[in-house]
Amino acid sequence: MATRAEIRQISRAKRQRKRLLRSSCLLAFVALALIIAGFLVAVQLNSATALLARLDTTTGEVRQSAAGDPTAQTTQAPKGANVLHPNEPIPLLVNESHPLAGDSDTSTTVGLLGIVPVADDSIRVNQSLVAPLSELFAAAQQAGISSFYVSSAYRSQQRQEELYREAEDKSYVQKPGNSEHQTGLAVDLAVMELSEGDLGQNATWQWLAQHAWEYGFILRYPAGKEAITGIAYEPWHFRYVGEQIAQYCFEQGFCLEEYVAAAQGN
Ligand SMILES: [Zn+2]
Repeated sequence: MATRAEIRQISRAKRQRKRLLRSSCLLAFVALALIIAGFLVAVQLNSATALLARLDTTTGEVRQSAAGDPTAQTTQAPKGANVLHPNEPIPLLVNESHPLAGDSDTSTTVGLLGIVPVADDSIRVNQSLVAPLSELFAAAQQAGISSFYVSSAYRSQQRQEELYREAEDKSYVQKPGNSEHQTGLAVDLAVMELSEGDLGQNATWQWLAQHAWEYGFILRYPAGKEAITGIAYEPWHFRYVGEQIAQYCFEQGFCLEEYVAAAQGN
């Protein structure tokens, strides 16, 4: 039989155990909440790091996500988008492996006679080339380079067929459908009183090779890129791609095939 004092002691001990149990439960609950919160923060950080890893710091573009990444759907660039210059369409590529489907639309070409020096009144270009070509000629004149003119520009399918048939050296003439002259976006420039042997060393070609990009033109068939373009070095053939892309190609030393592959993310 317990004494009154013993009973009091027992009930005090009971109360103490209860209190201890309550605080242990509370502590366990807080610890569990902290673990869950920590886990959630880690998940968030992990996905932010993954996103940063895919962000191209030079263009601000989010690169294509790795396979299996659940965020891939929302961050992937739309198909066919230019990953190098998101606001610029990828330039039309015409070469042996990318022939034109048919004759290009001549309604968008305009005559150059009276605008810049031309070989004859049949010379036409896509209308988007008129302003940049005029600026190119004006800048050349300011730099003391004025002895050149447009010798060839837009060609119909029929004209390209004739040229191909007549050409003895086919390395400078594309098969019908494979020539970007058929797009109206390319020009051949000729230098007055220039012999074949002087090609490339001529001051006009050298000025054009250095400055054409400032007006949106690229030297389409550069020396050293023959294996990629499939065309021998042509210092006279320029292709309009717009200032941004022309500058990129000039600075990177890219020919159009290389640019298009990079812009497509390949
Ligand atoms: Zn040409």
